[in-house]
Amino acid sequence: MNQDCPICRSNSVQLFSKAYYQRSEELREEYRVLRCLGCGFAWTDPRPGDKELPDYYPADYFGDISNLIQELKADTLRKSSPWRMELDKVRLLEEWINGGKILDVGCGPGQFLLALDQRRWLPEGIEQDEVASYAIKALLPELRVWSGSIEAFQGKPNSYDVITFWHSLEHVSQPREVLKKANALLRDGGFVIISVPNFASLQAVLFRSHWYALDVPRHLWHFTPRSLEILLDETGFKVDKHLFFSKAVNFHQWKHSLRSLVSATTHSLVPYYLLKPLLHLLPTVERLSGRWGVMTFVARKSPSSRASV
Ligand SMILES: [Zn+2]
Repeated sequence: MNQDCPICRSNSVQLFSKAYYQRSEELREEYRVLRCLGCGFAWTDPRPGDKELPDYYPADYFGDISNLIQELKADTLRKSSPWRMELDKVRLLEEWINGGKILDVGCGPGQFLLALDQRRWLPEGIEQDEVASYAIKALLPELRVWSGSIEAFQGKPNSYDVITFWHSLEHVSQPREVLKKANALLRDGGFVIISVPNFASLQAVLFRSHWYALDVPRHLWHFTPRSLEILLDETGFKVDKHLFFSKAVNFHQWKHSLRSLVSATTHSLVPYYLLKPLLHLLPTVERLSGRWGVMTFVARKSPSSRASV
């Protein structure tokens, strides 16, 4: 393999699987997922450049944003399961810190920012998807949301208490540069919270090209606990905790991966109720293996090793 691992620089790299993106009814694009045998990290090959990437995010990528925001304003969303997932994130965050200046990178339509108690938190968001970020700015002008990338973000250095990446780090072109920038924006001891699919999981091995969380080519990078630890250490962070979070996201991955695999094998769309027994059994096996399909890292900016931007 003519490529070195972007994380640990090992040249011991192998093909993990091919993976596909259905661009249109007629056009199916083929990608390779390459894996480093040193740290387990994997990457999508080829990766679309920054100019091509927006083509892979359709206008409805985040669903019907204006409807979502209307529901939020009308308070009808607050009992829904997507909303409960946002509250789970807030609970997790507040186990470490219960207020301050927070930046959510890849904030989408802004649900997490809205789920924070606005009396204790000063929430800000960055969203590269122009459809989402302009919709929030129009419909929720009270939220501080910036369009664009974190690399171009002009936030005040050393001023943030927390920066979150809820399933966004695997989407950015330069994760090392992004984490260096996050480090520069955080105050000493400030927290970074990163949730990503776990490429070292049982799901990844079982489903291979059908693993829902491969999501090529939008997921440019496929992290393992070891590779994320190396990257955090290199960019000036000290890992506080590595968690299995969230169960809801994990279940979502099981469900869609299983459906994709069974449908491809049987050449028909299998109804959900037929998969239900397996969806109870497989997460139990996963629990016994300890190799969860998602992972969340909580890390702090090390005062002694400030990364330069
Ligand atoms: Zn590696």
